[in-house]
Amino acid sequence: MHINLYDLTRPQLIELLAGWGYSAYHADKIWHSLYQQQTHTTSAMSDLRPDLQAKLQAKTAIHPLTSQLDTQSSDGFTRKFLLQLPDTHAIETVLMRFEGRKGAPRATACVSTQVGCAMGCVFCATGQMGFTRHLTPGEIVAQVLHVDAILQTGGERLRNIVFMGMGEPLHNYDNVMTAVTILTDHKGLAIAPKHITVSTVGVVPGILQLANDGPPVRLAVSLHGATDAERQKLVPPARRWPLADLMAACRAYTTKRKRRIFFEWTLIENENDTPEQAHALGQLLQGMEAHINLIPLNPTIGYDGEPTHSAAAKQFQTILGQYNLPSTVRQRRGIDIAAGCGQLAAITHSHPTSKQVY
Ligand code: SF4
Repeated sequence: MHINLYDLTRPQLIELLAGWGYSAYHADKIWHSLYQQQTHTTSAMSDLRPDLQAKLQAKTAIHPLTSQLDTQSSDGFTRKFLLQLPDTHAIETVLMRFEGRKGAPRATACVSTQVGCAMGCVFCATGQMGFTRHLTPGEIVAQVLHVDAILQTGGERLRNIVFMGMGEPLHNYDNVMTAVTILTDHKGLAIAPKHITVSTVGVVPGILQLANDGPPVRLAVSLHGATDAERQKLVPPARRWPLADLMAACRAYTTKRKRRIFFEWTLIENENDTPEQAHALGQLLQGMEAHINLIPLNPTIGYDGEPTHSAAAKQFQTILGQYNLPSTVRQRRGIDIAAGCGQLAAITHSHPTSKQVY
């Protein structure tokens, strides 16, 4: 079995080479080829000693992900890639563009962490697929490299990553954190941890682990309901991790990490967008270092709820303001190519309104 070089952190690569009798100097050259030059084959690493190159070819492989489908939203802000994994499965990765504070474009990669998802949130296309398998660290890293390479053709570099694609990142904790270590390595892509957001639907042990010994990334917690009864209707894992446990873990995170948490709330008309739910959320989060992202529901085939209208979203936001809780109503992006929150499903045909990019 060949070792996928994208699976290794730099210290692990150094250790592998040390076992073969090579110094860290050689490991750094390989690392530079992988992440600075973004070389896709060991044979293209021309500045390596021939004996080391032969060893790499015998023992290792590099698995970039190839795009089966590349679609761009009609507004040009969102681009979605269907990426083929080394086995028969495929995942989706999204490149989102926003206008930065000074008008400069800001690119963010939304990456997947699993094929499918075991959490089963009722309004989510990935949850409706069920769980197939975890992604390896290398498969997570390769998504970022894919997006970065595309940005480089336009003279840009990727600086922001959100783990909000297919899958529950904290259900695949070790592989996600290894990927974060690789992506933030100062001799490689050097993405700043503060520009990485890990999202969870409320996997309490993962939040506690992140609070205790995780990297200094940002945390986003998808709540969607402010009472156990409401949350359990939308998010099945809420039965296992009730709100009292979840909020205790969130408080442990903000206390230890001295960072605010982003709470995500999908706004579903007449379901969780009522003034009662807004007050319940306000009471739940009052006094916490928190920012709430309100996301009007994106359509999926398996759920027939409707998105909240803008007036009701505004009212929800006003009520949160009464509890001194900052919030943002998120612009819906990439809906026409099914690249919005909760819409990723790795389907191999393009949406009829999307424009294909080759
Ligand atoms: S919303 Fe996230 S955690 Fe829930 S089913 Fe979808 S991918 Fe999984």
